[in-house]
Amino acid sequence: MSSLPSSKSNAEDLDALITANHILHYHKVLDAYGHISLRHPEKSDVFIMSGDRAPALVSSHPDLIEYNISDSSPVDPNSKKGYQERFIHSEIYKRFPEINSVIHSHSEAVLPYTMSGVAMKPTFHIAGFLGTHVPVYDIVPLYSEDDQQDMLVNSVKFGSSLASSFSASKSSAPEHNVVLMANHGFTTVGTSIKQAVYRAVYTHVNASVQTNAITLRNAAIRAGVSVTREMQYLNAEQVKGSLKMNAASQDRPWGLWVEEVKACGLYKHEGRS
Ligand SMILES: [Zn+2]
Repeated sequence: MSSLPSSKSNAEDLDALITANHILHYHKVLDAYGHISLRHPEKSDVFIMSGDRAPALVSSHPDLIEYNISDSSPVDPNSKKGYQERFIHSEIYKRFPEINSVIHSHSEAVLPYTMSGVAMKPTFHIAGFLGTHVPVYDIVPLYSEDDQQDMLVNSVKFGSSLASSFSASKSSAPEHNVVLMANHGFTTVGTSIKQAVYRAVYTHVNASVQTNAITLRNAAIRAGVSVTREMQYLNAEQVKGSLKMNAASQDRPWGLWVEEVKACGLYKHEGRS
């Protein structure tokens, strides 16, 4: 672990990465599966994420592993075992230079939108970052006859295909902030850990709100209760306005979430030890 960043500010980045693991578990975005990573603050061709353990149990800098963005190989060949799906992270960092944090989740609230054919839409202003269209990436057409079809994004080929779902053009910035993954989960990105965590938590919340709204509406119609208009989501103009507001206000929930996980006995934070 000697190659992990060692200056004070970079140690703070690693502390934030550990805290983000805890926050994402606390808010049910991650369970024993799923992960968050950070582009190395000093080496832009390297990223950092936990080794193979449940996010709630990540507790210190030695739990983290550095990987080369080029092929997701560990910088230290003697590193302990890592996550198989780290190619999600490496290929997004490779494709989008301005992205510094990536989160992959199997959120229970989001999963129905990856298989039902019901499009995920931004239901309220806090989720404006979803945009007017959330793409669904499907790994199945990429499989060869001999592949084990376990849905895992565990190769450069699968990872680069997922990364391309964030943008159809060659722009350095993604056109979409969230991509759903058919029968699997979702991935979101940010220019910082705080932004990626904000987007992951509120993608999960938005999915619950949308499901509740659809369920309520259908139950009302079945019960003969008058429904006054069609389902209404944020339109393009509201998405644009909310995106700016989201970027300006994401520090507030982060401050709350940090205190929540500090107050919960499950999570341990031992810094460099
Ligand atoms: Zn996964």
